[in-house]
Amino acid sequence: SGNELIRCNEERIYVSVRLRPLNSKEISRNDVSDWECINDKTIVFKNVGILASERSMYPTAYTFDRVFRSNCSTREVYEQGAKDVAISVVNGINSSVFAYGQTSSGKTYTMTGITEYAIADLYDYMQKVTSTSRKRFYFEIFCYGDLYNESVRDLLSEDGTQLRLLDDPERGTIVEKLTEEIVRDWDHVIQLLSICEAQRQIGETSLNETSSRSHQIIRLTIESSSREFLSRDNSSILTATVNFVDLAGSERASQSLSAGTRLKEGCHINRSLLTLGTVIRKLSKGRNGHIPYRDSKLTRILQTSLGGNARTAIICTMSPARTHVEQSRNTLLFASCAK
Ligand code: ADP
Ligand code: MG
Repeated sequence: SGNELIRCNEERIYVSVRLRPLNSKEISRNDVSDWECINDKTIVFKNVGILASERSMYPTAYTFDRVFRSNCSTREVYEQGAKDVAISVVNGINSSVFAYGQTSSGKTYTMTGITEYAIADLYDYMQKVTSTSRKRFYFEIFCYGDLYNESVRDLLSEDGTQLRLLDDPERGTIVEKLTEEIVRDWDHVIQLLSICEAQRQIGETSLNETSSRSHQIIRLTIESSSREFLSRDNSSILTATVNFVDLAGSERASQSLSAGTRLKEGCHINRSLLTLGTVIRKLSKGRNGHIPYRDSKLTRILQTSLGGNARTAIICTMSPARTHVEQSRNTLLFASCAK
């Protein structure tokens, strides 16, 4: 069919792990790297200097669809860990790409690059197909929002008011009054991405705590149609959505799993992250039984891009540092459960 972009493997949930290099802070406190990717699918805990009694407590090797060494570029991570899933929107399939991991593990670094590469690829593909076949594509709607403590904010609008979720009979759960930019052309795409970048930087400097507690979602809806049918009726119009999700730091979820007084606070801090984990775990085990989409706002917003025949890529980012070993193990546990 001439769409060489679509070489989808059939995984519905594609899980990969990206190890980042030790950063300067870690190096300056003589931290050491405990993890190594021994091939394209397996990451191992190196065990150096660890007591034998402790060794047996945890698995030492973890296998995923893909693991990325610390020297891999974001381009490689995109090509091998997210592209198939993101690009499947041109086939009318909803999809979501997530970055999951503790704060400072590289979620934003990874997701920012992936979003840009994916949008550029989609645009190129649509241009090419539109010019050589009867198919026409449009970048339809672009949204950018974040979810903090179960409230949704519009990152494309100035006023930052909290928005409500509504259940629409046709579109599922929607965010009321969320800015929906109808994309005009490539310059407009660039302009929207630069707004996202500016918002991200504001988040990282002035609201550091908040940004590690919120989920940021860039959502792009794509419409395709066949010219010859368009004049007759609308039945050949296909709409699909791709979501790029930079999740809150995963330490928020594991905090809430710890005992005692922190429990309630933790649940409030990140119900969405916990529910996402449950939903993905259940989806990965087959689609029978109740999937608790409605337990959090994030999973409500993403429901149509998670269940059904939607496709999901999860990139779990982790620091190699010994000081982060507990969080890294939690991340690998999450990743294992998603498989
Ligand atoms: P998070 O969003 O998970 O809190 P960031 O993406 O902000 O983490 O990354 C923390 C820091 O580490 C940033 O300065 C970022 O540039 C750097 N970093 C993250 N991943 C990598 C990587 N794979 N290679 C080089 N630097 C990275
Ligand atoms: Mg971040």
